[in-house]
Amino acid sequence: MSDVITLAHGSGGRKTSELIAELFKKNLGNEYFTADDAAVMPKPEGRIAMSTDGFIVSPWEFNGGNIGKLSICGTVNDLACMGAKPLYLTCSYIVEEGFPVEDLEKIAQAMGETCRKAGVKIVAGDTKVAGKGQVDKVFITTAGVGVIADGVNLSGANAKPGDKIIVTGDVGRHGTCILLARDEYGIEADVKSDCAPLWDAVEAVLAVCPEMHVIRDATRGGVGTVLYEICDQSGVGIDISSEAVPVAPEVRGVTGMLGLEPLYLACEGTMVMFCPAEYADKVVEALKQTEHAKGAAVIGEVTAENKGRVVMTTSIGGKTYLPQPGNELLPRIC
Ligand code: MG
Repeated sequence: MSDVITLAHGSGGRKTSELIAELFKKNLGNEYFTADDAAVMPKPEGRIAMSTDGFIVSPWEFNGGNIGKLSICGTVNDLACMGAKPLYLTCSYIVEEGFPVEDLEKIAQAMGETCRKAGVKIVAGDTKVAGKGQVDKVFITTAGVGVIADGVNLSGANAKPGDKIIVTGDVGRHGTCILLARDEYGIEADVKSDCAPLWDAVEAVLAVCPEMHVIRDATRGGVGTVLYEICDQSGVGIDISSEAVPVAPEVRGVTGMLGLEPLYLACEGTMVMFCPAEYADKVVEALKQTEHAKGAAVIGEVTAENKGRVVMTTSIGGKTYLPQPGNELLPRIC
């Protein structure tokens, strides 16, 4: 195989078959991934959830992952937020002519590894090659199907006054990591993206609290945006304690220097959960037993007052409104 992706790799001819066999099948293959026009799978029992997302992160490789890992985590986590066990994914690549084959293989490897971790299978895929300059290196779109257990009913509209609000780990890592990777600020800090598939964490939570009200992954826009979204969707207010929000020291350092609010920086392996108060301790305990949610913490609660607003109690005991989500700080973060 050649060293770089050429237009011929996307032509549907011999070079395309070569790419599929040597790169994609090798890393992503499974019994449902065939040469036919569509994948055929057994019908799962119960309700299904479906989701799709495009990934255009720049740079495509970062501390803690790459666009391949991100593209699996993003869709797996969106399904998990609905309480759906992720089963099948499709993936569609748009690759810029001249992109190194070796790098595309790295991306496919990361996807395969993440799929195995998340217990999900890529059953169909597509590759298009765009001319030089038409896309920036590589864009990936994934779509996924998952199955929802009976009795599980999650929605952003389900938050109730009295609910406790839990984050599954420290916030703002992915956004800070990408910001540093762009190297525009001359700051040296070792910040690793939180990028991770979280179905196992959600599964553990639903086992101890099947009546969980809301789960949402705090991707673009971070935890702050999720809190405002849930306020709106559920018609409630939210009270959080700024001291209770877990932030890694290295993230605190960078955001402090740049004057950024970690609650508004993207996460790619951190969720916000709303549960009836009596389950909060059990949920945090269950989360802490899982690989990617060891830093789980209660950060606040839902109120009947202040509808549509997020009130933050500061470390010195004052109360302030968390600013409304503002302008996108970082383009092409996920
Ligand atoms: Mg989401």
